[in-house]
Amino acid sequence: MITKSKLAITLSKLKVFDSAKVKLEQYPTDSEVAADVLWNAFMQGDIGNKIIADLGAGTGVLGIGALILGAKKVYFVEKDKDVIKLLKENLQDIDNYEIINSDISEFNKKVDVVIQNPPFGTKEKHADKLFLEKAFSISDVVYSFHKTVTKNFVRAVADDFNFKIKEEILFAFPLKAAMKYHKKRIERIEVSCFRLKKS
Ligand code: SAH
Repeated sequence: MITKSKLAITLSKLKVFDSAKVKLEQYPTDSEVAADVLWNAFMQGDIGNKIIADLGAGTGVLGIGALILGAKKVYFVEKDKDVIKLLKENLQDIDNYEIINSDISEFNKKVDVVIQNPPFGTKEKHADKLFLEKAFSISDVVYSFHKTVTKNFVRAVADDFNFKIKEEILFAFPLKAAMKYHKKRIERIEVSCFRLKKS
């Protein structure tokens, strides 16, 4: 039987970005963090047998974790072709998914749950808002990572779509030294994963 720590170990073996693109804010979700959120979602009944969209899927850690925990199907939506190559390698032994190589703005399938670790909008202004709006328009349950300091902004966008923040899981997010301009090798920022639900 799968446990949370086994899930974390499996996810830690996945390939991650080899040359992260600053403009697209390509940070992989840490495997422990991903396992935490996914396990919590699984316990709440948001994974088993659900159709899930992983928006800005990157190398796929969130969607792959969801499939391991019994999701019915995952759409991996990612616009960067180079990353799709790694995503495909990570999906080699996995079924029940579709890769959509496009901008999230072009994805319009209705799903049961969205799980996303989108760009935080620090490089491309409002990128986080576009991801939230897309998530709210295709699903009634959304898990979304944001900088903790932007909680009021997340709540305001949610309000416009009749969503409420139901839960917040706090993390000190390790931003590994994937980006050249980081001075310290490991920088940590306060990040929250919000569970949002349509009311
Ligand atoms: N969800 C992954 C990756 C997070 S990084 C993880 O948790 O590890 C954010 C990802 O979103 C990057 O792979 C980036 O290429 C992608 N991305 C950024 N803007 C996008 C957009 N408008 N449409 C689709 N993908 C986008």
